[in-house]
Amino acid sequence: MKIILFGPPGVGKGTQAKLLVEEFHSVHISTGDLLREAVKNKTNLGLKAKTYMDAGNLVPDEVVIGLIEEVLRSDEARENFILDGFPRTIPQAAALDALFEKLGIQLDNVISLDVDNEEIINRLSRRRLCRGCGRIYTITKVEADLKTCTQCGGEIYQRDDDKPEPVRRRLEVYQQQTQPLIEYYRKTNRLVPIDGMDEIGYVHKLILDAIYKDRKK
Ligand code: AMP
Repeated sequence: MKIILFGPPGVGKGTQAKLLVEEFHSVHISTGDLLREAVKNKTNLGLKAKTYMDAGNLVPDEVVIGLIEEVLRSDEARENFILDGFPRTIPQAAALDALFEKLGIQLDNVISLDVDNEEIINRLSRRRLCRGCGRIYTITKVEADLKTCTQCGGEIYQRDDDKPEPVRRRLEVYQQQTQPLIEYYRKTNRLVPIDGMDEIGYVHKLILDAIYKDRKK
């Protein structure tokens, strides 16, 4: 299974990627997670990426392309992966296509998740994460003061870039730099649009149906 999960911030890419990873035992490649890990460990990459991320801007193309190239060179990832949050610009998509060609990788699908802007802002303001296992929560009013993860007991936190100002910037950046990729993948018949408004389990089912339908072709 070689899939790109595409869509605006907060659309549910991370949540759906985790479900697909369980289903297909794929390697989950999230550039956001890799960058956050680098920031946490204060590596050179992390120090370079932090200011961009805090402001809700994209990290420069050459930095993330180098990161992806490193991951996709591993035998395990090359055979079976879910790309989440990459590519995000036309140059990244072009570099990815060149890398696929070099490594002999045949992409199966680009799953494009879509929800309306109001719902994105609503979901991002309610998103919380577990520092221990990475579980993603969309908290309700009742859970507003959730402190520990119900799965592993880890600390629950809100990403700095899920606060209102960076969210506004991330949505702008999405519209300007990432949305043009829809046309890039549509032109080469690789785009599978999925309505992401429904609840998590149903959206997962829509994705699986689309993947299997495409395989039968
Ligand atoms: P995410 O967790 O996918 O929402 O990513 C969080 C932040 O990491 C983004 O707002 C960007 O600053 C950075 N980032 C993640 N993926 C990319 C990418 N493909 N290109 C550039 N910046 C990225």
